[in-house]
Amino acid sequence: MTNPDWTLMIHGGAGAIERSRTSPETEAAVRAALGRALDAGADVLSAGGAALDAVEAAVRVLEDDPHFNAGRGSALTREGTAELDAAIMDGATRRAGAVARVSFTRSPVALARAVMEQSPHVFLAGIGADAFSREIGAEQVDNGWFVIEERRRQLAELLARGADAFDVDMKYGTVGAVARDRSGRLAAATSTGGVTGKRWGRIGDSPVVGAGTWADDRSCAVSCTGAGEFFLRVGTAHEIEARVRLAGTGIAEATAAVLAEVKALGGTGGVIVAGADGTMVWDFTTSGMHRARASAGGERVVAMYGDEG
Ligand code: ASP
Repeated sequence: MTNPDWTLMIHGGAGAIERSRTSPETEAAVRAALGRALDAGADVLSAGGAALDAVEAAVRVLEDDPHFNAGRGSALTREGTAELDAAIMDGATRRAGAVARVSFTRSPVALARAVMEQSPHVFLAGIGADAFSREIGAEQVDNGWFVIEERRRQLAELLARGADAFDVDMKYGTVGAVARDRSGRLAAATSTGGVTGKRWGRIGDSPVVGAGTWADDRSCAVSCTGAGEFFLRVGTAHEIEARVRLAGTGIAEATAAVLAEVKALGGTGGVIVAGADGTMVWDFTTSGMHRARASAGGERVVAMYGDEG
């Protein structure tokens, strides 16, 4: 019998997210944005809508909010531009869509979904992805629309120190969502600007299906945030799902074990996981993670720091 309950979890990045380093204004704005994104997804699910629509709706809200490293407010390349990555996956059909290094599409997650639904492909990158975006009539913006002052400052600091990407960006503000709808369908979506100071066409885990994003109705849906190079090498999202499906490992246990593997390689970050059975798990190896969850039972939690929720 189909379990009629829906679940939704979102994240807005993991990292050095601590009370002592966060102003009251920033904390209030981040919590409010997480709440708005959660509500956008929950509205879809409580009305009987699809998990795929819910994760897209939630991620779009966070892409538009400058407090997160996705869409507007993205981390900048060494040249000071925004190059955006996103992926979405439908656990019912295992159809997926992804884009990398897009520069003019307001909502990269919506474009990823269009790749899934309106092209014969799964993954488009760079100028080709931009061309596809224009062709299908996705909303276009100037690249400068994504660029905010705080990101310019972070880039300038990194360049002044002669540091490489990763050295300053210990707050991974990537956004993501996972959901289970009333029909038991699962979906996952992730969207990011990548890491500050990235160059040479660098792409992280977020848009790579199986690394930063994965969904399979037989077990769970996963969205990751963290040091992409390490999440890629663990195949993190698929690895969690495969352990649940093939080894029968519990979702919390599988998630912790795979994050431990990421950590053993030298990477930090976090994940959100929605189980086919209604389980909701979030886990992170950093001091905090922007996150929120809601379910049909009326639960609604918005959290940032390690000791919450
Ligand atoms: N995982 C992202 C990347 O490596 C960064 C993040 O989570 O903020 O591109």
